Amino acid sequence: TIGMLAIDKNGDISGACTTSGLAYKMGGRVGDSPIIGSGLFIDNDIGGCVATGLGEEVVKTVGSFLVVELMRQGKTPQQACEEAIHRIVNKPNSNYKNFQVGYVAVNKKGETGCYAIHQYFSITKYQADKNEQIQSEFYNR
Ligand code: ASP
Repeated sequence: TIGMLAIDKNGDISGACTTSGLAYKMGGRVGDSPIIGSGLFIDNDIGGCVATGLGEEVVKTVGSFLVVELMRQGKTPQQACEEAIHRIVNKPNSNYKNFQVGYVAVNKKGETGCYAIHQYFSITKYQADKNEQIQSEFYNR
């Protein structure tokens, strides 16, 4: 998945995502990316989130909506992404060692966060005419 979040000078937030889905997927499978609330969610009063990784796990926790709701409750984008990943890995019998999920989030102030289950989840942040490559923090150490 390629997920994109943008916030303009008026503080208006937008987002988009595109995906080919998973390799070897069953015909007819619908991943998280086209489902608003799972692969992508924006609330212009609060912030936005996009997801990548194993869509089934994102859908089961309505992940992008969850991240935005956690920001609504006062969490920073980073804290919200981390809590949403913890929801997945802390499920009883979670098989998280065998799949990846990552979230990127932005809030109304333009603060950003990202977190993934495993390493090698990278983000490009463009702000104030500068591109920054960020390697996401991750859960599985
Ligand atoms: N999230 C996508 C899906 O499950 C896979 C991806 O990250 O591209 O369909």
